[in-house]
Amino acid sequence: IAKRLEGKTIVVTGASSGIGRSTAFEFARTAPKNLKLILTARRIDTLKEIATEITKEVGDGVKVLPVQLDVSKPEEVRGFVQNLPEEFRDINVLVNNAGLVKGVAKAPEIAKEDMNIMFATNVTGLINMTQAIMPIFLKRPDGGAGDIINIGSIAGREPYPGGGIYCATKAAIRSFSESLRKETIASRIRVMVVDPGQVETEFSVVRFYGDKAKADAVYAGCEPLTPDDIAEVIVFVAGRRENVVVADTLVFPSHQA
Ligand code: NDP
Repeated sequence: IAKRLEGKTIVVTGASSGIGRSTAFEFARTAPKNLKLILTARRIDTLKEIATEITKEVGDGVKVLPVQLDVSKPEEVRGFVQNLPEEFRDINVLVNNAGLVKGVAKAPEIAKEDMNIMFATNVTGLINMTQAIMPIFLKRPDGGAGDIINIGSIAGREPYPGGGIYCATKAAIRSFSESLRKETIASRIRVMVVDPGQVETEFSVVRFYGDKAKADAVYAGCEPLTPDDIAEVIVFVAGRRENVVVADTLVFPSHQA
């Protein structure tokens, strides 16, 4: 994998915590020579700390660029690509990981604000990033080249009561990804979806509006995956031979029904 990833420029959204943070470390550990990592999220101070930690661990063979970016804001996303330093412009891999769940509510009680932020981040945000970066991929020979790895969820396949909006956003990611994969079939652009099951991250804290006790209760009596478990899969799919598309992967803990 190290050889295949060597020389690549990789963007990870939502890299300030959980799966995105682990993915940044996993890429750096797997390919510590001649790799460029662009780490994005809203919490820039955390990203800067992560960049420093990565460099401390693997050395300066991996160049890390932390960038503050809200994926739900199209103008920020456009500005992000336009303002990239020259050496980070030739992006090869986009990991669309930024996402969130807010609240647990049956349909009549869903708060509009929660609904809007979930769609704006999980769906529109992912599409904003894809549209901004695809022109870079499409300029390459043979109809274009590059990887788009979209992080969906088991929730996109198996909706649950109280999760109507979140599940719908993750189902939308599946549909969008599948369309895009078919649209780019004549190119060397790979569109791949990784759907995690239960993973212990800040995800649940966000879901319960910062209530840590409620968030922790979600994991009581079960053994969730760690963010590293998903990061390993993301790096694996990115590291396949060019002609291999790992289009659709579901990864969940052994206890999860
Ligand atoms: P975390 O809450 O730990 O991480 C979410 C990341 O998304 C953070 O880095 C956050 O950074 C970023 N983010 C949120 N909103 C925005 C925004 N508008 N613009 C840019 N970045 C944003 O959760 P996970 O690591 O668990 O979640 C990562 C992905 O995995 C999500 O898409 C989630 O839906 C998916 N997933 C998670 C599962 C789980 O059980 N944990 C299960 C299935 C899927 P910041 O706040 O700094 O912007």
